[in-house]
Amino acid sequence: MLADRLKNLAPSSTLAVQAKAKELRARGVNVISFGAGEPDFDTPERIKQAAIQALRRGHTKYTEVGGIPELKAAVCTKFKRDNGLDYEPADVLVSVGAKHTLFNMVVALLNPGDEVLIPSPYWVSYPEQARLVGAMPIAVPTEERTGFDLDPEQLGAAVTPRTKVVILNSPNNPTGAVFSARAMEAVARLALERRLWVVSDECYEALTFEGHHMSIAQLDREIKARTLVVNTCSKAYAMTGWRIGYAAGPRELIRGMTDVQSQVTSNPSSVAQWAAVEALAGPQDEIAKMAAEFDRRRRIIVEGLRALPGVRCAMPTGAFYAFANVSGLFGRHLPGSGQALAGSADVTEFLLEHAQVAVVPGVDFGSDAHVRLSYATSAELIRQGLARMHDALSKLE
Ligand code: PMP
Ligand code: GLU
Repeated sequence: MLADRLKNLAPSSTLAVQAKAKELRARGVNVISFGAGEPDFDTPERIKQAAIQALRRGHTKYTEVGGIPELKAAVCTKFKRDNGLDYEPADVLVSVGAKHTLFNMVVALLNPGDEVLIPSPYWVSYPEQARLVGAMPIAVPTEERTGFDLDPEQLGAAVTPRTKVVILNSPNNPTGAVFSARAMEAVARLALERRLWVVSDECYEALTFEGHHMSIAQLDREIKARTLVVNTCSKAYAMTGWRIGYAAGPRELIRGMTDVQSQVTSNPSSVAQWAAVEALAGPQDEIAKMAAEFDRRRRIIVEGLRALPGVRCAMPTGAFYAFANVSGLFGRHLPGSGQALAGSADVTEFLLEHAQVAVVPGVDFGSDAHVRLSYATSAELIRQGLARMHDALSKLE
């Protein structure tokens, strides 16, 4: 019954883990979830008030497909304020979350057979979206010993005449890496030489714990002209459910993506757009507070993970994920059980069953040696989860 393109489509495993933890909780199982990649904070009050006011003012109708002028202006303000990037409203598209932005991009930019370079480990949706339009995702490894920094040499070696796009994601989901300026400069040179388009997913910009966030588009005018910068209100303003993502970049591409959106969803929710105007253009004080809390949790979780038998963990410098290397557990088993842990899916299952802790298997992000833990949950739950994992893993032989 289903189209051929669905034969190889993997449903989002990050969302699946989240759903599974919710379901177990509803059945009364006390699961601690490190699955969800979403802030546990509530949306700031000023943003909620803006939405309430929008409703009262009757903003309940269709809007311009690519976003209301006020929001496009707020997006331009944000890029100038935070990134020193000059864009005009015509360079901007607002969509139903950055996931939707990225899907508009693959539809508007990629032909069947085009190759997309994706530094690996990668967020689960990049390869699947590329495959949905018949393009070829090419995973290009990054190394744990460099803190998963971008590897320009490996990227260069992976370019073929079919390569059209390279997707950068810094701060990175799932590794927590913030790519070095040096590596980004080299990738910018590569993109210009080989005439590649760059998609820079900066959704975790606000969560950069060491150094400063840098957008590749800031390097110079030439690379900016070949880059689509993607961002979202989801993480910085704890607005995952509102579904507002946005992008700025080459006008022709933005126009193409807007045309795609016009035939698929029309505008993002009118009320959410007004909330996003307040989020992006209003006072930004909450961000630093939230980031400081995530930074505190980052240290707690990484320290705890490093103390687990058989587990190693590089210190992430951004986002809210720890990407723990669990390959030291492979080959181990419970006393009396012949079944040894053989990969990240086994470790995930073991932790859910024996520690009631939910994590996401690294295999879905391109590394079977790891599991991803989101620390967007309270310090108290992080401590409890770590203790449970410690008890369960200590039983392995
Ligand atoms: N990019 C990355 C790297 C993500 O982790 C996510 C998931 N939150 C998104 C994009 C999409 O976020 P949203 O659709 O909520 O804007
Ligand atoms: N991006 C978050 C994550 O990786 C939320 C779920 C999703 O959209 O994939 O967990």
